[in-house]
Amino acid sequence: MPKKRNHQAWLEGVAHHPSPNFNRRPIGMAIDLLVIHSISLPPDQFSSDDVIDFFQNKLDCSKHEYYAHLQGVQVSAHFLIKRRGDIIQFVSTLDRAWHAGVSAFQGRENCNDYSIGIELEGCDTQPFDEAQYHALAGLMSVLFEAYPGIVKERVVSHAEIALPPGRKTDPGPYFNWNYLWEIDAKR
Ligand SMILES: [Zn+2]
Repeated sequence: MPKKRNHQAWLEGVAHHPSPNFNRRPIGMAIDLLVIHSISLPPDQFSSDDVIDFFQNKLDCSKHEYYAHLQGVQVSAHFLIKRRGDIIQFVSTLDRAWHAGVSAFQGRENCNDYSIGIELEGCDTQPFDEAQYHALAGLMSVLFEAYPGIVKERVVSHAEIALPPGRKTDPGPYFNWNYLWEIDAKR
């Protein structure tokens, strides 16, 4: 299980692939929302490290036709959980990753300011891997402890905070929230 390493908020026991796509959070901003996403590059495929490259602005956009519209797009998340459950961190949790885009939670805009973003390698057409749920639950327990403002009711899908409504679907219909909370309850 990952541990909170230091005041820089890079976790121990996970791979670090620092992304340039972040900035400071607004001064004094409490971190009290967790946003769950899914992503796969190419779409519906899980065999490459293209998501890692994408979050580091290193993706060769000529290697797949789908990537043409990703040219110059600068995004990130704090964490990515690969299919086997490996966790990769791209941005310190103290900093503001660029994962939510135009968004609001309970009327409060700019979710990137006050949230942590976790991407699961996945898509809208296939079940997630069991290992991903366990890795996510472990990561969440560390984050819940580090950031008491993040509670179960403040763990949300990207789909439910994205604006305008319907702009995003992730983590999608195959993400099993009940299973996640079952694992969490057994801790
Ligand atoms: Zn998303």
